[in-house]
Amino acid sequence: METRSLPATIADALTCARELDGVTSIEATALLTHTTGQERSWLLAHREESLDPAAAMQYLSLLARLAEGEPLAYLTGIREFHGLDFSVSRDVLIPRPETEELVDVVVRWASNMTSVRLVDVGTGSGIIAVTLAELLPQARITAVDVSPAALAVARRNAEAHHAADRITFLESNLLAGVDGPFDGIVANLPYVAGDDLRTLSVTHWEPRVALDGGPDGLSAFRALIAQAPQELTPTGALFLEIGFDQGERVAALCREIFPQAAIQVLPDLAGLDRVVTVYQAEAL
Ligand code: GLN
Repeated sequence: METRSLPATIADALTCARELDGVTSIEATALLTHTTGQERSWLLAHREESLDPAAAMQYLSLLARLAEGEPLAYLTGIREFHGLDFSVSRDVLIPRPETEELVDVVVRWASNMTSVRLVDVGTGSGIIAVTLAELLPQARITAVDVSPAALAVARRNAEAHHAADRITFLESNLLAGVDGPFDGIVANLPYVAGDDLRTLSVTHWEPRVALDGGPDGLSAFRALIAQAPQELTPTGALFLEIGFDQGERVAALCREIFPQAAIQVLPDLAGLDRVVTVYQAEAL
């Protein structure tokens, strides 16, 4: 790659990408969009246009990193979630489409309430807090994370989407430093189990603190579920993103602490278990 001459045109740049294993043309075009500042549609309609050498050089270097397996979102610094663009860095997990299901469940639950106090535990890049602020104008949201670097990314995203005035950011390990009560606790906790953590390629690039759920993947759930009753209103609800094979076990943990609540396991769009909901109100 080092010895390759710089691509002179957009078409040349896309050809360079075709020669690399595991790099799709969608990813290559996204890198070109990032390095040239031109829209994807413009690039595809102007393939013979010449490429600025500085942009071409940056493109080649990012392309090499992509071919090494570095995620596109970290190279461009952006990932779309629920129709909004979010800044991401190596300090935060890359937003996953499955998490949109978690947001949608909370929105369906809260949409008819006139006011709602929510806490997003382990906010990371802030996608859940910011999207909820956008979709629920009546919500006041506290977003917590144990990582100050992640909180800085989340704050930036809240400002970019004009949601910073309705989100309070707090450095806290789960709910340890948080003052409730809340109507809803929402969390995409780290839930990857120890053995999977060693074999999954994501952990090479993404922060371990955002993925590591302890030996059985459930450590963070146990801790948060134990804290939840003190931080919820008597009719408050809990919304947890889970791994596809954790539904039964997380529901059982919730049942121990909330024996009277209505507890459900809901699938994502792929049909895999993805969200556990705990509604105390339906049990009243
Ligand atoms: N869904 C993520 C993955 O499997 C895990 C996210 C998490 O631990 N919260 O890569």
